[in-house]
Amino acid sequence: AMGSLCIGLGLSFSYSQMEPPGDAWALVLGATLPMAGVGLQFNGIQTFKTGRCNGYLPWLLAGLALILGIWFVVLHPDIQARAVANSLIFGLCNAACAHALLIRIEQPLRTAYWFTGATFAILSTLFLIRAIIVFFSPPNSYGLYLQTPINPISFFIGSMAQMCLAFGFVLMLNYRLSADLQKLAASDALTGALNRRSLEQEAVRLSARCTRTGDSLAIMMIDVDHFKSINDRYGHQTGDEVLRRLAAVAQKTIRSDDYFARYGGEEFCILLPSTIEKDAWILADRLRQTYAGMVMEFGGEILRSTISIGVADSTHAGLEFTALVAAADQAMYRAKQEGRNRVMMYSAYLFV
Ligand code: GH3
Ligand code: MG
Ligand code: MG
Repeated sequence: AMGSLCIGLGLSFSYSQMEPPGDAWALVLGATLPMAGVGLQFNGIQTFKTGRCNGYLPWLLAGLALILGIWFVVLHPDIQARAVANSLIFGLCNAACAHALLIRIEQPLRTAYWFTGATFAILSTLFLIRAIIVFFSPPNSYGLYLQTPINPISFFIGSMAQMCLAFGFVLMLNYRLSADLQKLAASDALTGALNRRSLEQEAVRLSARCTRTGDSLAIMMIDVDHFKSINDRYGHQTGDEVLRRLAAVAQKTIRSDDYFARYGGEEFCILLPSTIEKDAWILADRLRQTYAGMVMEFGGEILRSTISIGVADSTHAGLEFTALVAAADQAMYRAKQEGRNRVMMYSAYLFV
């Protein structure tokens, strides 16, 4: 916003000097402010994308424009050289902004980045063309505004582009905000796992996909053993931390296209597309072992915990999410009955 303000102010200084010879200081400011402005815009983009920027950049650019202005307007008046130099620098800065926006585009912000980046690219092209045209204009024919149409054209497109940029920046913020909110709404606040609602959404989507492809969909229900006594003995905050650690190992253990969710309380659920029960069991047992092997230390006290897991797949339980959950739940309770800290398959006792 500050960048756009500087550019807008700079443009009005330039506009106020339509008739040559023009007021020297208004001309100098007319170039200095937009240069600082584009530096601020570049920093805004960097901060937006990476969280970091070079705070000196706008000052450096403004300083450069100021020196060029004083040199070519006050000390050695050469309005043509000044316009070429300023257009070149301004064009290159806009190209840098376009580049910063158009590399490494993350998906939810794609449209907004493209829109803003393309606007910067247009501005950059415009000012580089302006530099070339002004450079090749016959000496002295270059009055600031009248002899060549490039000036009104670049001022006109330049102002339009600034409006588009403002819109593009607002769009970027809007998209980011909406993506952040979507993430918040889909995840569990304590563990960062998917919440129940998004798990159900994913399950519906995966069921439809598996119906189409004929693939098997596996599910794991995970329940912490004697969690109530962990809470009772170490306190709820420690209990919360245990849940976070379990979520962290589970996230590390699963594959990138599996879905890990907090089903409720100390129960977690993992959906494994294109997986059969046996393979789900192997993964579940690896998770169980890793978790059981973890030594957690809280305030000098050592805590170990275990989990029981039930696995099921669509071959035995069908593709309906509720049926899958019920099957995995049954297997999980079976694991509890058998003495906890183990993984049970739904099919293992289905036919006995
Ligand atoms: P089992 O081995 O049979 O699963 O025993 P359990 O004690 O784990 O089973 P139970 O379902 O009785 O206890 C679950 C406990 O989990 C009860 C509840 O207080 C606790 N709990 C649920 N959600 C949270 C949470 O978000 N944080 C903490 N600290 N505790 C929670
Ligand atoms: Mg439970
Ligand atoms: Mg439990």
